[in-house]
Amino acid sequence: TSFEQFELNRQLLNAVAELGYTEPTPIQQKTIPLSLGNHDVLGIAQTGTGKTAAYLLPILMKVKYAQGNNPRALILAPTRELVMQINQAVMELGKYTDLRHLALFGGLGPKTQIETLRKGVDIIVATPGRFMDLYRSGEIVTKEIRTMVLDEADKMMDMGFMPQIRSILEIIPTKRQNLLFSATFGGRVERLSGEFLEAPIKVEV
Ligand code: AMP
Repeated sequence: TSFEQFELNRQLLNAVAELGYTEPTPIQQKTIPLSLGNHDVLGIAQTGTGKTAAYLLPILMKVKYAQGNNPRALILAPTRELVMQINQAVMELGKYTDLRHLALFGGLGPKTQIETLRKGVDIIVATPGRFMDLYRSGEIVTKEIRTMVLDEADKMMDMGFMPQIRSILEIIPTKRQNLLFSATFGGRVERLSGEFLEAPIKVEV
């Protein structure tokens, strides 16, 4: 089995090959076709399983090319480090696409982030707090977001991001695909997925 089995475009397959990924990992094997088929996915997977590429490749396939000014996919993660790491993966996997992506996190002034937003961005990777701040100051238009990812959802709950996540869910279109990834599946993540996912397919590795 190889990545060629998935309905991914040549730009993505070339990037995957260049990264030296020869075979999809189990989470990729299960998630990529579901996500390309527009299902909501609840992925229970630890870091190191290849979960990032599992949700990014279908997003890069669907968002496909740079268009307009407004983001079409939003990936939320709990920490600045994880946001930077995911953004790096978007850069590597999206190397042969023209997609514009941006990492948003707190801890530094928003000036550069705002300048990049104003030039137009296709994919945003963000911590919930900074995303809401920039939305409230009118810098982010959410109406074209069609895919939403919550990565390390259990950690986001632990860090108290539930109120911000709720606010974000209220301002993005209801007609969208949701992907939720968590290392654990306990009461709170289960409740979050019940609230936020539409008939999800649960994938465990
Ligand atoms: P993640 O679980 O998303 O943090 O990924 C863990 C590491 O596995 C990252 O360094 C990825 O670059 C790498 N990786 C992801 N998918 C594959 C694959 N199919 N084959 C080899 N390495 C991979």
